[in-house]
Amino acid sequence: MPSTNRLTYKTLFIFLVTLVSAGLCSALLLSGAQERGSSRPPAQASNAQLVDLAIDRRVNDLLAKMTLDEKIGQLVQYSASQAASTGPTTAALNVNPPGPNGIDSYQLAQAGKLGSMLNTVGQQLTNHFQHAAVDQTRLHIPLLFGADVIHGFRTIFPVPLATASSWDLELITSLAHMAAVEARTAGVNWFYSPMVDIARDARWGRCTEGAGEDPYLGAAIARAYIRGYQGQSLSAAGSVAACVKHFAAYGAAEGGRDYNTTDMSELRLRETYLPPYKAAVEAGAATVMSAFNALNGVPASANPFLLKTILRGEWGFDGPVVSDYTAVMELEHHGIARDGAAAAMKALNAGIDIDMMSHLYDADLPALVASGRVSPASIDEAVRRVLRVKFALGLFEHPFTTGPEVTNAVPENRPLARRAAQESLVLLKNAAIGQAPLLPLSSNKKIALIGPLADDSADMVGAWSGANNFGDVVTLRAALEQHAQQNNAGLVYAKGTDIFSSSEAGFEEALAAARTSDTVILALGESSAMSGEAASRAHLDLPGNQQRLMEAVVATGKPVILLIFSGRPLVLDWAASHVPAMMEVWFPGVETGPAIVETLFGDIPPSGKLTMSFPRAVGQEPLYYSQLPTGRPEQFPDPKHPGPVEAKYVSKYLDVPSGALFPFGHGLSYSTFAYSNVAVSAPAVSVAALTSDRQAHPIHVTAKVSNTGHLRATEIAQCYIRITGASVEQPVRILKGFARLTLEAGEAKSVDFPLGFEELSFFNADNREVVEPADYTVYVGGSSTADQSAHFEATAKPGR
Ligand code: BGC
Repeated sequence: MPSTNRLTYKTLFIFLVTLVSAGLCSALLLSGAQERGSSRPPAQASNAQLVDLAIDRRVNDLLAKMTLDEKIGQLVQYSASQAASTGPTTAALNVNPPGPNGIDSYQLAQAGKLGSMLNTVGQQLTNHFQHAAVDQTRLHIPLLFGADVIHGFRTIFPVPLATASSWDLELITSLAHMAAVEARTAGVNWFYSPMVDIARDARWGRCTEGAGEDPYLGAAIARAYIRGYQGQSLSAAGSVAACVKHFAAYGAAEGGRDYNTTDMSELRLRETYLPPYKAAVEAGAATVMSAFNALNGVPASANPFLLKTILRGEWGFDGPVVSDYTAVMELEHHGIARDGAAAAMKALNAGIDIDMMSHLYDADLPALVASGRVSPASIDEAVRRVLRVKFALGLFEHPFTTGPEVTNAVPENRPLARRAAQESLVLLKNAAIGQAPLLPLSSNKKIALIGPLADDSADMVGAWSGANNFGDVVTLRAALEQHAQQNNAGLVYAKGTDIFSSSEAGFEEALAAARTSDTVILALGESSAMSGEAASRAHLDLPGNQQRLMEAVVATGKPVILLIFSGRPLVLDWAASHVPAMMEVWFPGVETGPAIVETLFGDIPPSGKLTMSFPRAVGQEPLYYSQLPTGRPEQFPDPKHPGPVEAKYVSKYLDVPSGALFPFGHGLSYSTFAYSNVAVSAPAVSVAALTSDRQAHPIHVTAKVSNTGHLRATEIAQCYIRITGASVEQPVRILKGFARLTLEAGEAKSVDFPLGFEELSFFNADNREVVEPADYTVYVGGSSTADQSAHFEATAKPGR
């Protein structure tokens, strides 16, 4: 036997022994812990349609006919806005205008060297390019048209952080479907959405595009989007392919600064950041977009651990991964590629199938394949993934878009957009003025409407608002004026100041308006552009001199309702102690005015609950409710100063309490709710019962929710758990269930939260998903500070 072979056998033997003993050791270490088989089951197809046998056959037949250049073309993506592109150029979303790279995307399409386009929108424009690709090329392969349709195509509904505050999955699915139906009329067949990045730092402007800080809620919302975009079948008339982004952990940017690096343990990655992406993939998301950031030193757009080991290996993802905008080129900036060719090689070999706008796959892949640095097989595999989506969407049969095109907000879709805006509103505070809470307002009051956000349609839609048809927006002022007219009530409007301004020229008019009115509605906050991409902030207070305006208005002594327009949590500590009523309205979209007015006057009581913690001070960021414990919790005795002195050596700030000003899950209504009878269905459950069937829910948590007020209203009941006694410390509490309930005044209903492996498992120090013998405390209530609790145990012994 040649020595190299002997070495190989010896190495193999040592490897096997190590594996077996590692398995034994971890089995011993787990001491009673069980995994359900393995947390890394063999990959199954994530989307059955993409691996459908008929599609597979067609993909392979086509692939066999393609030249290398034609294959590479499928991996290339550009927008239409280059000067050289002939034909219509109207109606592009143009949210991300390209730099001058000299690319003529139309010529590329004619030559079969373009696979997809971004933010190229409109029937005329998309058909123009599609004709080039389908009619003028040898193989007639249609283009994919991807676009940033983030919260509505033309009927713009609230930003995603707002709709997440509804905790209404059916609503989110309906909104997503509505956007898909509208966009298909304009040739768009692929949405760069949902953004499912967990965001725990309000400084990060892109938190507006996601569902907030919580992985459980984030996963549920991710599934809701996929259902809405892709429907039952990608080939259905109103379906688009979803693109889950940005894979992965983009929301953990250090310091909340966009594009910044992320660095975290694998445990945290799996526990907190991956669940929403995984849920979206399991729900059948057709495509994924890689992130800009590096994760633990490896850029996500050239990261085999993320793209191969996890996404394809563990989750069985079958669709294509598109890079984020120029992210392949940016590998040079990250310093892991010395030139464009190296960047293209690293990206493709790591699992990036489509190069968005970098101009590197088209430029460098031919030579990389010729030199053997990229294998023809990996090109084929990437092309296969792209073609699968095109076949599944039915593009080969129906490449062109016909019929009436949606170019403005659709009247029939406005009711859904209004409902979304209403369910997104979060009543943060509603103190009594005299006997009754300030809200709802009675119709006969004379109102002063003050603030830069009262009548600014562009700043009511938020970031990524599609075609920016601001004329479609009904502003707050317009809706209030209509309401005042209908009710013969007084209304006076004064802007007071701009969003960013140091001028106090408008203050006097605003204060005069306040003084001559019964109640003031203050519409303050951020501009649309202050959140979204590249919109990080180091200060989280009201911009410009809005704080000063607010203080002056409050000083008039008139009751003030503060409406906060923002794409993120702001620091509202002064308002919280000086303003009687506060409502976070986010950026509500085309139905801003009617939605807010109907809520202020009590037609629709508010029901939204926060999905990101609102800080007391920027220095608390990143801030989230499901903190890991410390050895010195703030509320425990100070180990160095026992006795009745102020605790010092505990985990806290000297200047603000550690907790949020408005915590995750918080949101009031015009009615009140009480929780009682929190109970678990059994005092104990065996680890074996939890792990043997992942779909089973052997434990149920129940509670009674009573509407204790005088109005019909909706409550979002929430179930949290805390695990103690496990091998790895667990968050002080973490969401594991929720339910929206509408209750008549005085009515009570019981809620039931089923708990099984998904809810009760966690990742251990080996990054494996396990259930261990441990104590479980469950909390049920109306926010993450819920105090009604019950208890059960996960036991090692079967049958206990
Ligand atoms: C953003 C993505 C977006 C892409 C295409 C990038 O800058 O990060 O979220 O989908 O541009 O417009």
